[in-house]
Amino acid sequence: MQIRNQLFIGGQWINSSSGDTAKVINPATNEVITRTQMASPGDLQNAIKAAESAFERVWGRMNPFERSKYLHRVGDAIERNQKFIAEVETDDVGKPIIESLNVDVASAAATFHYFADICLEVMGEVKPSPFNEVLDYTVREPIGVVGAIIPWNFPFLIASRKIASALAAGNTMVIKPATWAPLSTLLFGELFTEAEVPPGVLNVVTGTGAATGQAFTESSAIEEITFTGSTDIGRRLYGSCTSRLKGCTLELGGKSPAVVLADCNLEETIDGVLFGVYLNQGECCCAATRLIVEAGIYDAFVERFVAASKAIKVGMPREETTRMGPLIHPDHLKTVMNYVESGKAEGAKLLCGGKVLTEGEFAKGNFMEPTVFSEVTPAMKIWREEIFGPVAVITKASGIDDLVQQANDTHYGLAASVWTTNLRAAHTLASRIHAGTVWFNLHNFVFPSAPYGGYKASGLGSELGKEGVLAMTRMKNVMVNMFPNGFKWY
Ligand code: NAD
Repeated sequence: MQIRNQLFIGGQWINSSSGDTAKVINPATNEVITRTQMASPGDLQNAIKAAESAFERVWGRMNPFERSKYLHRVGDAIERNQKFIAEVETDDVGKPIIESLNVDVASAAATFHYFADICLEVMGEVKPSPFNEVLDYTVREPIGVVGAIIPWNFPFLIASRKIASALAAGNTMVIKPATWAPLSTLLFGELFTEAEVPPGVLNVVTGTGAATGQAFTESSAIEEITFTGSTDIGRRLYGSCTSRLKGCTLELGGKSPAVVLADCNLEETIDGVLFGVYLNQGECCCAATRLIVEAGIYDAFVERFVAASKAIKVGMPREETTRMGPLIHPDHLKTVMNYVESGKAEGAKLLCGGKVLTEGEFAKGNFMEPTVFSEVTPAMKIWREEIFGPVAVITKASGIDDLVQQANDTHYGLAASVWTTNLRAAHTLASRIHAGTVWFNLHNFVFPSAPYGGYKASGLGSELGKEGVLAMTRMKNVMVNMFPNGFKWY
């Protein structure tokens, strides 16, 4: 297996017809790893055509047992190459190697194996018929070519979810990763070749989002688009899809609360919330960014959480002891630091962090300190907007109604966690918090079998689970005349 920087179309590695390329940098050093191709409109058309042809010739007609075998083989190929994939992901995204290996790559392999099994569960049902002589049943059919667009924060894992669920249902795919972190998605070209999946079933293109979005929405061959990324871009893409009557699944931004009750187990809560806030440097859609803490435990929580945040080992992402690496790009570091400055300017209290790290090994990369604010009010930008970095804000609350009101005080609704030993309070909060996922005494756990999707501005539809595969199908109703002498109108 090797790093690839070309387009993977119809089973072949090719250069863009435009000759344009884009730099891929390692965020720990800002050195160039390679340059990827910027697909031209013609290249995108070729990728869509390759997927369409593979759908019509082979994948769309293949029986589910055979599809299942191929998807298991991709899962096996990921497991065989896990170390290499994890290192590429770490170099490209900046996430600690321990996370790339144990979260991203391990979950991606599990995702392929899970959806390989789900291939055999995509089925319709026999419906009740008002005539004994008419059989009525439904079948779930693939949609055709699915267009997928993904972000830079968990590229390998998010790509695996989109590819495995769409292919399990019998679709083929063209997928485009983000320009800041395209390398692990390109590795799927290698993995699919190793697993001997027929050419054209998966096509990977790199290039601008705008050109890809336009090619996908204007193509008559693509009737379904699955997008993960920011709410702004998702909203625009959805507009283009609805006006053309195309299906569109959207996994968008978040501003998820961790709701901490006074009766929680404090030690476990600190560990769990720390993982919720700082996994992947906080560049995580469902990151716990608003910590809403009951008054009875507020002081103890703040003291322990700030001490634990200061103790996080920020370091070079390839080192096994590193728990927080650099942010993805100098521009993104600037955006996150602007939020830190806005928090200070609006009067929030900076409890720790807030600085870019520039000394020694950090000099060339995009490193910053884990950062915590208190005395945050609902009007502040750091309370309202997705920061997408290692920045948490803490507020105090009194009683269930206040906890619920603060948790729901956001236009996002991706996820939330509740930290308590009181079962009644836990289930009450689960039902009253407006979010697609609620965890108890956990944060940032996502399983291939558990449907995942956002409420409000966090998305539309859900992926993963059996539901995620069914979303990649359309339903046909079939009626069969079994009248012994046919049906007579009169
Ligand atoms: P982004 O929206 O800037 O980009 C996402 C993808 O969209 C990229 O591949 C980009 O090239 C492409 N794109 C850009 N312009 C486009 C256009 N006009 N049409 C079609 N595609 C276009 O997001 P990002 O900065 O890469 O990722 C961060 C965002 O993703 C955050 O908001 C985060 O919360 C969200 N996210 C959500 C989930 C989830 O499951 N809900 C998971 C991960 C990330």
